[in-house]
Amino acid sequence: MSDVTPPTGEFDFTQQPVTDQSFENALARARNGERLTVADGVELITTGTDVAGIDRARKELVLEAADRRRAEVVGDEVTFVANLNNNVTTACNTGCLFCNFKDRSEQFRSDYQQAHGGFTKTPSESREIVDDALDRGIYEVCSVSGLHPALALDDEHVEILEGSERGDLNYRPASAYDTDPGTYCEQIRAMDVGGVHVHSMTPEEAYHARRGTDRSYEEVFGRLKAAGLDSVPGTAAEILVDEVRDVICPGKIDSAEWLEAMEAAADVGLGTTATIMYGHVENARHRVEHLRKVRALQDHTGAITEFVPLSFVHEETPLYDRGMVDGGASDDEDELMIAVSRLFLDNVEHIQSSWVKYGDAGGLKMLTCGADDFMGTILSEEITKRAGGDYGEFRSVREYADMITAIGRTPVERSTDYEQRRVVDPDADVVGPTLGPRADGTPLLQ
Ligand code: SF4
Repeated sequence: MSDVTPPTGEFDFTQQPVTDQSFENALARARNGERLTVADGVELITTGTDVAGIDRARKELVLEAADRRRAEVVGDEVTFVANLNNNVTTACNTGCLFCNFKDRSEQFRSDYQQAHGGFTKTPSESREIVDDALDRGIYEVCSVSGLHPALALDDEHVEILEGSERGDLNYRPASAYDTDPGTYCEQIRAMDVGGVHVHSMTPEEAYHARRGTDRSYEEVFGRLKAAGLDSVPGTAAEILVDEVRDVICPGKIDSAEWLEAMEAAADVGLGTTATIMYGHVENARHRVEHLRKVRALQDHTGAITEFVPLSFVHEETPLYDRGMVDGGASDDEDELMIAVSRLFLDNVEHIQSSWVKYGDAGGLKMLTCGADDFMGTILSEEITKRAGGDYGEFRSVREYADMITAIGRTPVERSTDYEQRRVVDPDADVVGPTLGPRADGTPLLQ
């Protein structure tokens, strides 16, 4: 881990981007494909620190360099995966200040009388949902959930938690709740149906799956892999600088532990992704320091298939409601985040443009700033239930083909690990996924 932790300690929260290296030098190094320093990255992401705000002309130069690098590394193809989101539960007591997904777990208890908007699924419900989506043609199920107090790794872990005298383990038996989520291993086994790719268990969930034990992350991920887990989403990373985490997610694991869990996942042979959630209380140096840690992790593991910048959505979050932030990142900042990720992460092949965060127009724009992956269809149970109605957060293969072709690039359906790829013909009458175990080229939704 020594090469992953910062050589000079963490940064003061108040530290502003300060560097005496010129923007031009940093840009020249980026254009030459040299490995960038944190100071270079700060120059590029701020377009030079001697100018207030973003310098538009300089920004274009950074975007251009990143777009050229993208073309050299991965060519003109824009990929996407046919996937389903199956989140098991919204019950979570961790209290991250940027999150509007969770519901306090008390509301899920059998003795709680009032209605609430949250949900928990049993393993058999998860199986049914994945099985149905598999028939529709998905390749992958992605599952990221709240840290429900009843969730444990497996029956052995339940026993350990039941027998513990400690009151700080965020544990309560499943019998106390309306719906039993089962164990993590049961959920993974349930979702591992018919050859689907199971993408689940963030480092934070892995921590929850070992709380109160002396099990290593290797052991936890090893058991999950045996249950059917195929790869691990590198979410819950937020900003990998502890002075920022202490403000936005004090209940979460720290940066070193996040990195330790990711290394362990890679060590047991699981593919991973990595993310950054930016545009809240952090500064430019924090963003670039985050990139440095991800790059060091990738030097170490080689397991990261894609890097996903996630622009903070401030509405309805405690950070915004409490006046701790005024809003999220600007469009200029979003574009520079994508571009500098492409230029700084010289060892990660794919940079993702998240249309859920940037919207359609913004998402397409990011594909000209260094990104080459356009996320997934994110089918969900709610959407399949009302197929043909309001799609909400769903993108069909047809829409992918049309949007990607419109910007002069080649639409390609991919597997989670990018190993299987299929060019989509935008002129075909019927356009649907073909890589999933039961996919036959018909659309996911009719
Ligand atoms: S752990 Fe996840 S679900 Fe829970 S509050 Fe934090 S971000 Fe939200």
